[in-house]
Amino acid sequence: MSASNKQATPHLGGVLQNYIGGRFVDSGQHFANVNPVDGSEINKVSEATLSLVDEAVVAAKAALAGEWGQLSDNERSVLMHKVADGIEARFDEFVAAEMADTGKSLWQASNIDIPRGAANFRVFADLAKARSGECFKTDTADGQQALNYSVNKPLGVVAVIAPWNLPLLLLTWKLAPAMAVGNAVIAKPSEDTPATATLLAEVMHEAGVPAGAFNLVHGFGPNSAGEFLSQHSGIDAVTFTGESGTGSAIMKAAADNVKALSFELGGKNAAIIFDDADFEAAVAGTAKSVFTNGGQVCLCTERVYVQRSIFDKFVAALKEKAEALRIDWPEDASTDMGPLISHKHQQKVLSYYQLAKEEGATFITGGGVPSFGDKRDQGAFVEPTIITGLPETARCIKEEVFGPICHIAPFDTEAEAVAMANDSEYGLAATVWTTNLQRAHRVAPQMETGIVWVNTWYLRDLRTPFGGVKLSGIGREGGAHSLSFYSEPMNICIKL
Ligand code: NAD
Repeated sequence: MSASNKQATPHLGGVLQNYIGGRFVDSGQHFANVNPVDGSEINKVSEATLSLVDEAVVAAKAALAGEWGQLSDNERSVLMHKVADGIEARFDEFVAAEMADTGKSLWQASNIDIPRGAANFRVFADLAKARSGECFKTDTADGQQALNYSVNKPLGVVAVIAPWNLPLLLLTWKLAPAMAVGNAVIAKPSEDTPATATLLAEVMHEAGVPAGAFNLVHGFGPNSAGEFLSQHSGIDAVTFTGESGTGSAIMKAAADNVKALSFELGGKNAAIIFDDADFEAAVAGTAKSVFTNGGQVCLCTERVYVQRSIFDKFVAALKEKAEALRIDWPEDASTDMGPLISHKHQQKVLSYYQLAKEEGATFITGGGVPSFGDKRDQGAFVEPTIITGLPETARCIKEEVFGPICHIAPFDTEAEAVAMANDSEYGLAATVWTTNLQRAHRVAPQMETGIVWVNTWYLRDLRTPFGGVKLSGIGREGGAHSLSFYSEPMNICIKL
């Protein structure tokens, strides 16, 4: 659409650039993007300076006042579908870039991460177009009545700050609704996963998204692009997914300008397995909820509570599943688990394995680093790990590890299981396994979380409310909730 969108785009392998006002920009200040499989450097990344972030804000405001701000709902919807088409047209490149940055398996990147990146644009393009407003007829003293109706306006310039665990999926989960309702966005992917966001900038460019409607800045958090965005007086809202501590820092930085905030934060999710559960389904589902993506999904289970009569049998069955996981090269179609995201995160997860030993845990399986005898020994791998025997007060029960580890504890009564599951500062997701329908309906609403799955895990419908309570977040996204956060409703009252 924009004439300025004719510039040739850069490709992966050299320096991943920022994308500001429809142009790819190199700050000249670079950091390394490292492959966690073997510690090798994939490419360099151009770190956005404060003045580049300022430029992105100026470009975003100009887009709102210009071509982007003039588009009809239908035209924006068509463009968002074109972006989804663009992701699908370059599917293999996106999959390869996501795998290189994260080490996640081919299966996961090509069945979950990249398809959901495209789906996020399609779903919100359709929902935004179909949205209706409120309308009330109001009685007046003269009997003539008044008509009140609401219109939805975009918030303005929205900063999207994303984590590394599901890079394209989580970035687009916020970008798509924000853009579908007409905001101009500045995206900041994690410093550990800059590649698919850069490919997305190329797709936006190729799709003809008007200059300044989508901007990309690379960098870190403190004293870098993340902090520059959260403090910036020209930004109207910050939507963030990441650690609870980072959410707190962003909240402080955003306070002076009273920005709108949406936070999807950490978790310490519980699974409750009752003795009336379908045993095989509960074991398979729990293995998935603990070990998917190396435990690096905010919704992953780290605390498992099992009714005492099936406790020993369940621990043995989950051990068998953990030991059967294939930890291998990401591109191998049969690989279940790759490395963790980085050596830094590997050290964090291993420090919790060590802490569990010091706190007196029994290791059912794992607890160390796998050995390959090849260059993967320089990678960020850890073993899938199951522990038991810790008191509920232990730090390993209270703190988010964000790795392939769970603690399993027995319980006797339903009330005890509910109390143990809820005894957490976090409140993102819970999983309940039972074939008793009344119990399912009784227990699920008692969970102090934003999401409960019964007899399944990570079954997502993008129209449903998504988010957490307590330290796990503020607000809800998903479907109408996303459209609502990214819009400013305005009431118009007409006296008839
Ligand atoms: P993180 O908080 O370290 O970083 C997330 C993003 O914030 C990165 O882009 C980073 O550069 C940026 N950042 C860091 N410090 C900042 C600061 N002071 N100001 C502004 N930006 C800053 O999180 P992570 O390690 O990338 O991701 C893992 C965490 O994310 C886990 O806690 C996990 O539970 C959480 N998570 C939550 C959800 C959810 O939906 N609730 C989803 C995925 C991940």
